[in-house]
Amino acid sequence: MNDMTPPKTAADQMCLGVTERLRPILRDVRDMVQNDILPIEKQWHHETETAADRWAHTEWQTAKLEELKSKAKSKGLWNFWLTKTGLTASDKGFGLTTVEYAHLAEQMGWSHLAPEVFNCSAPDTGNMEVFEKYGTEEHKKKWLEPMLEGKIRSAYLMTEPDVASSDATNLEFKAEKDGDEWVLNGEKYWSSGAGDPRTKVYILMARTEAKGDFDRRHKQHSMFVVPADTPGISKLRAMTIFGQDDAPHGHLHMKFENVRIPADALLIGEGRGFEVSQGRLGPGRIHHCMRAIGQAERALELLCQRAVSRKAFGRPLAKLGANYDIIADCRIGIEQARLLCLKAAAMMDTGDTRAAAPYISMIKVAAPNVALKVIDEAMQMHGGVGISQDTPLAGMYVQMRTLRYADGPDAVHRMQVARKELRGYSNKK
Ligand SMILES: Cc1cc2nc3c(=O)[nH]c(=O)nc-3n(C[C@H](O)[C@H](O)[C@H](O)COP(=O)(O)OP(=O)(O)OC[C@H]3O[C@@H](n4cnc5c(N)ncnc54)[C@H](O)[C@@H]3O)c2cc1C
Repeated sequence: MNDMTPPKTAADQMCLGVTERLRPILRDVRDMVQNDILPIEKQWHHETETAADRWAHTEWQTAKLEELKSKAKSKGLWNFWLTKTGLTASDKGFGLTTVEYAHLAEQMGWSHLAPEVFNCSAPDTGNMEVFEKYGTEEHKKKWLEPMLEGKIRSAYLMTEPDVASSDATNLEFKAEKDGDEWVLNGEKYWSSGAGDPRTKVYILMARTEAKGDFDRRHKQHSMFVVPADTPGISKLRAMTIFGQDDAPHGHLHMKFENVRIPADALLIGEGRGFEVSQGRLGPGRIHHCMRAIGQAERALELLCQRAVSRKAFGRPLAKLGANYDIIADCRIGIEQARLLCLKAAAMMDTGDTRAAAPYISMIKVAAPNVALKVIDEAMQMHGGVGISQDTPLAGMYVQMRTLRYADGPDAVHRMQVARKELRGYSNKK
């Protein structure tokens, strides 16, 4: 937040679900994001662009990140994602509600660097939830504990290049039992975070029963825990997004050839992969959406600063053409999206995940699209510099555009919403 940003009023702070216990945490997170994290973003990108090895953090990046993580930890601003709902280990976190966490996710969403500082970044939070909910004691010791400490990272491997992966019943990557081991063969695509050398473990979905019986299509896949250094795994290439490879995090295309993992690498049981993936993706989507709202707020702030500080045709840009309408529509869109996201979070907090599902789908369509619209308008208000390296907006746009695919494309979520809406009508004349 810079000098041109108006202070938030008391009314702003009284937003739905900002409880007394949340208020100081929210303030501390916002302070760190605005004062410690946003100011280092430019240097961070410069380091990545000029690094000798782009697939590792530079010394400066490592030192900075660890310094910020230590600061967050020492203030107790750590592992907020361990919310009350559905988790048994809430004693390890704050025991916040999903609604409370959603407000924090919005603040962390302002910078792509922020979630990791508070150990709240994707895909780790979802993967930690998997270990927490479905892992054995050994999984928890080996993987969950160092992840909770922020010492290692992880990736989630579901999507494949050769099948339409938005329908996960299509997945063909094979896991076959051989004595006491499972043997993995196939390719995975868009494995976010697999480029980071600190990523030590993958959660991977594989087919364990042949295709054929349609009624069993949700029982033919299983979820596995795979150490990243297991022999037979090759990193084929980093996928690019509008030409950017997102190093060192990366979204990798990977190949598994006769990769052998022990029997206990299977999570909760053969054929229960969908159960695990559904347990993982629900809260994660809400977190993504609230971070998207944080991005939209940041873009609108930049838009307004530009609109009042630059003149054309003798007047501030804000007063030209339809710019009042544009600014108003951005604000209206953000407020609508936030409320829908908080409703989805509140539905999660009831514990009824089936009832929450359509709301999660609704916000998964709404939030990225609202954020994209606001970022697009902010770029436009900046003129040419809006799509250059001199503002964060172009990078924000690119990252936000990916959210219309990741964790399920818009169309699939729309299908879920419409199906729910139509339920109960089908037998009526
Ligand atoms: C930056 C980025 C990061 C990602 N990270 C990960 C990750 O970490 N792990 C992982 O496993 N995957 C990841 N993904 C993959 C993402 O989840 C998939 O791209 C997504 O699920 C869609 O699968 P697909 O690409 O195979 O598209 P397809 O399934 O081929 O779908 C293509 C298009 O078909 C249309 N379509 C599909 N279903 C319907 C429908 N029901 N109604 C109407 N139209 C429909 C939609 O327009 C859709 O976009 C990531 C993707 C991106 C871009």
